[in-house]
Amino acid sequence: MQPRARAHLSAEALAHNLRGLSEHAGVPLILPVKANAYGHGVREVVQASRELPQVWGYAVAMPLEAAELVGLNPGKPVLLLTPAAPDEVQELADLGVLLNVSTPEEVQALPGNARVHLKVDTGMNRLGARPEQAAELGSALRERGQLAGLYTHLASADDPDLGSARRQLELFSQVQAAFPGVTAHAANGAGVLAFGRLPGMDLARPGLASYGYAPPHLAQVLPLRPVMTLRARVGAVHTVRTGESVSYGGLWTARHDTRAATVQVGYADGYPRNATGQARLWVQGQRREVLGRICMDQLMLDVSGLNVQPGDWLDVWGEDSVHPAEVAAWGGVAEYELLTGLGMRVERVLSSS
Ligand SMILES: *Cc1c(COP(=O)(O)O)cnc(C)c1O
Repeated sequence: MQPRARAHLSAEALAHNLRGLSEHAGVPLILPVKANAYGHGVREVVQASRELPQVWGYAVAMPLEAAELVGLNPGKPVLLLTPAAPDEVQELADLGVLLNVSTPEEVQALPGNARVHLKVDTGMNRLGARPEQAAELGSALRERGQLAGLYTHLASADDPDLGSARRQLELFSQVQAAFPGVTAHAANGAGVLAFGRLPGMDLARPGLASYGYAPPHLAQVLPLRPVMTLRARVGAVHTVRTGESVSYGGLWTARHDTRAATVQVGYADGYPRNATGQARLWVQGQRREVLGRICMDQLMLDVSGLNVQPGDWLDVWGEDSVHPAEVAAWGGVAEYELLTGLGMRVERVLSSS
């Protein structure tokens, strides 16, 4: 059976973004591939990036993701960004996964072969040791020979006012001073774009930016390219007569006879249902209106005057059609949500261009 929607991933665009970000940050990157590589497909993203010298390693959020990633033989370090449960640490350590640690209990539970990155909470208040506790934990880990890195996470690097991000970096460097030579990283994508080179940092962790997206006020810093183009197939084409309405709730009514294509992508595939009323697809060089309510599996598109047939593939979003950031805005979601919301039925296809 054939898929009805495909996410085409450009290896070239990904490499372009990673080169640009690494050069701008002045350090190699830990590429976050959590949540199936931000919806792009972890297998495809690892395949496209494992040989790049700019990629030092990969980061994931969940132990399951870490195990899956190791199974893909990335040939590079894998960092787990959240705490592992006591009954998972041995297996993860045996797999060579770098563990996240931020409490004395987590340090106690570590098997001898575990290597960790100590997380310092400098203001995000999500995970991490407070700066005053981090020195002690770090020393304990160093004595055990398990301290492989030290890191923090910025809460507001995408804010045009960088005051709080600067305070976080300052707190982090005070902790870092006690651990010279230990690999350190702080910047997410917005941090890389906003700060560029950060003194004392050895790595950076740009996620969304690696996949091609920048906060609007940082869009001019680097020419990032969206890695994903989403395409979907036309299932049927029919005429809606004047006065008839289309889709659930009859939100759209034809003012004149309209040629409508039923396209086989819907909100179960990640097309935001709340984009109803604003949504456009790209057909033969034109933006065309989505008619009425977006359904779970399909949406209807005005293709009047165009030669569109069942089986045709149309661009839903992408670099050369409708920018995914625009679709996210129509749906009232962040680009993070749009991408990670891409459904299971969407086939991921890696292309070298
Ligand atoms: C997800 C995540 C990142 C990447 O963030 P972006 O905003 O996508 O650049 C970096 N570090 C940590 C700890 C994360 O959880």
